[in-house]
Amino acid sequence: MTAEIISVGTELLLGNILNTNAQYLSRELAALGITVQRESTIGDNHSRLADFVNEAKQRCDLLVFTGGLGPTADDLTKETVASCYGDTLAFDAEEWDKIVAYFTRTGRTVTPNNRKQAMVPVHGRKVVNRHGTAPGAWFEQDGRCAVLMPGVPHEMKAMWQEEVRPLLLARQNCALHSLTLRVLGGESNLEYQVRDLLENANPTAAIYCKTGECEIRITARAKTDTEAETMCRAYAKKFYDLLGDAVYDEDVAGLEETVVHTLQRKGLTLATAESCTGGMIAQRITNVSGASEVFGYGFVTYWEQAKAKLVGVDPAVIEQYNVVSAPVAAQMALGAAQVVGYSLGRVGPLLWGAGLVLGAAWLDKDVTLAVGQLLVTALALPLTRERGRRRP
Ligand code: ATP
Repeated sequence: MTAEIISVGTELLLGNILNTNAQYLSRELAALGITVQRESTIGDNHSRLADFVNEAKQRCDLLVFTGGLGPTADDLTKETVASCYGDTLAFDAEEWDKIVAYFTRTGRTVTPNNRKQAMVPVHGRKVVNRHGTAPGAWFEQDGRCAVLMPGVPHEMKAMWQEEVRPLLLARQNCALHSLTLRVLGGESNLEYQVRDLLENANPTAAIYCKTGECEIRITARAKTDTEAETMCRAYAKKFYDLLGDAVYDEDVAGLEETVVHTLQRKGLTLATAESCTGGMIAQRITNVSGASEVFGYGFVTYWEQAKAKLVGVDPAVIEQYNVVSAPVAAQMALGAAQVVGYSLGRVGPLLWGAGLVLGAAWLDKDVTLAVGQLLVTALALPLTRERGRRRP
């Protein structure tokens, strides 16, 4: 199946908002094995939108719209797409009752233009919105389909997950299973290493770049979920064989989740001593549910005096090696662990000038922790302050 994503809204064209809906839908459609051929943004203008839809529906099987389902005059996606697919709209009493109930609940008055949102396709079908007032719509003509979802991202995502995705899966008559590998390292190097595995038709594999790390998403399609899962697992093994320890976890939101889970499993506790990152590491750790079991102290020691006073860095070591150096970072980590009586200290990145060392993490020498080998990262390239702060 081929698809195009069409984002409707003049504020997108003006650059007032970032088109996060298109990014989300591109990934979701790809994960369903649907080939996205084009993404377009159209302003709130009936004739321009109609011209575009009439052309686009000849090119592919499915058009996916977001935005322009609201009650105001410039919300015209539903009427326009209906006419392009030879459909019309009719008032739906059930949707209207939901809108009235929502306004009453939130202490607001329903105005006549809200009736517009209760108009649903006559030949197509409405798509239920459990998180807002605007229902979505599904149109179909000669085997070509269009699905319309709200512009508000959380409403769109919920409608996609609850209604549209299952509908598309049922049409494809198959089960899909996905697995995401988290890999430390830059995209180009990684892509080069695994390039032969990225060309496969089923399972598919795609790389998504994050700061300092990448995700590899593997998706298999089969008759049953169990079969698709087995295919994913077998394909993941090929990546492990090529990348080894660089793959640090599966299906986690980020390195911090792996750190917290590993500490929990090993019964270890963590304290952080940060300089340049000013608490960002502690913040990432405490974003993980269950972090309180393993994390209790975070030191932000920006001044040299603070490094000496709070985590016991020896001023003579600073004098000898400079404050931004591996020995100072090591003393910060060990000092933090000693001060609080913990098993593990982690020190935040210490940003140095061009071509020098970025101290990433020093683990207590008596402790072995299976979160890759994050002992020291020496970078050949200079980092900006912001990139240095965000690197895992
Ligand atoms: P409403 O019922 O609120 O009018 P709608 O379906 O008409 O919803 P729009 O009016 O087009 O949606 O957009 C509502 C808001 O949703 C926008 O102001 C914007 O904040 C957000 N939004 C719309 N489209 C996108 C998009 N493509 N990416 C991210 N956010 C979006």
